[in-house]
Amino acid sequence: ATPTALLVGTGRGAQMGILIKGPEVLESTRQVDTVVLDKTGTVTTGRMTLTEALPAEGTDRTELLRLAGAVENASEHPIAQAIAKGAAEETGALPEVTGFANLAGRGVRGTVEGREVLVGREILLAPAGAADEAGATGGSVGLDAADGADGSGAPLLPAPLAAAKADAEARGRTAVVVAWDGAVRGVLVVADTVKPTSAEAITQLKGLGLTPVLLTGDNRAAAEQIAAEVGIDQVIAEVLPEDKVEVTTRLQGEGKVVAMVGDGVNDAAALAQADLGLAMGTGTDVAIEASDITLVRGDLRSAADAIRLSRRTLSTIK
Ligand code: ADP
Ligand code: MG
Repeated sequence: ATPTALLVGTGRGAQMGILIKGPEVLESTRQVDTVVLDKTGTVTTGRMTLTEALPAEGTDRTELLRLAGAVENASEHPIAQAIAKGAAEETGALPEVTGFANLAGRGVRGTVEGREVLVGREILLAPAGAADEAGATGGSVGLDAADGADGSGAPLLPAPLAAAKADAEARGRTAVVVAWDGAVRGVLVVADTVKPTSAEAITQLKGLGLTPVLLTGDNRAAAEQIAAEVGIDQVIAEVLPEDKVEVTTRLQGEGKVVAMVGDGVNDAAALAQADLGLAMGTGTDVAIEASDITLVRGDLRSAADAIRLSRRTLSTIK
């Protein structure tokens, strides 16, 4: 590979909104056969809105929104921002939270008006033993045994809420559980939207002979619905942030040459581990620093452009 041709390639990339860290990156780009894509903020816009607030029997809807909104108001997560905004719009100014804790990839916890409030994945609510079996070590705070979370296999969610949650997830939405003082108080549903260019980008990646894989911490049903919308056949869901990198390592162990496309703090380790890391320019600084390529436009089609550019650049060199 002549340095000149590689420099021309990286220069051409810059014009297309594809920032390549060094000329040698183009070489690894050409070898890629598998493209792992983060869901939220990469395939989807990551701009979520609160669409449903479903109180448990005996819980007041306004109370559900106020307390959940107050805790989420302390978090930067897109789900949190959607819940805080939706709650404030419906109930007015949100109360203060103390003892706030962010449980990465799981949810949030905090004290509001004397109540210990949890918002997040169902596993967050499970008793410690059950949560450990499911791999959620460190994040679970558990509900009291008296409230059904006694490790006996009794469902954590009352049947009507479980059904509503499953229905929302089947529609590609993310449903989180709200609990306080040892009992489930309701379910909140947030909706994200697929970027208008994502389906075309997947078609292009497949056309280049690459296998796209969707990777997310979100629930399986929602992930599969989003995957179907854009044409991705392989889905790896419900992955905790610290396990995303292992998915990359495992694929590499199977002999795959892996590109990873992501935007979040959660994606940084996987982006660094991948044979080629591509960060969305709209993403976090941590993700951008961990990557070989930045897609300035935050448009997934740029990932296909980058592969095409590297193939073209290297074929003119040979
Ligand atoms: P992704 O892989 O899509 O970026 P995350 O790893 O950030 O997702 O989160 C995984 C799951 O953890 C979410 O789908 C949600 O169920 C739960 N979760 C994470 N953060 C929060 C939060 N602030 N509030 C409620 N639920 C959360
Ligand atoms: Mg993301």
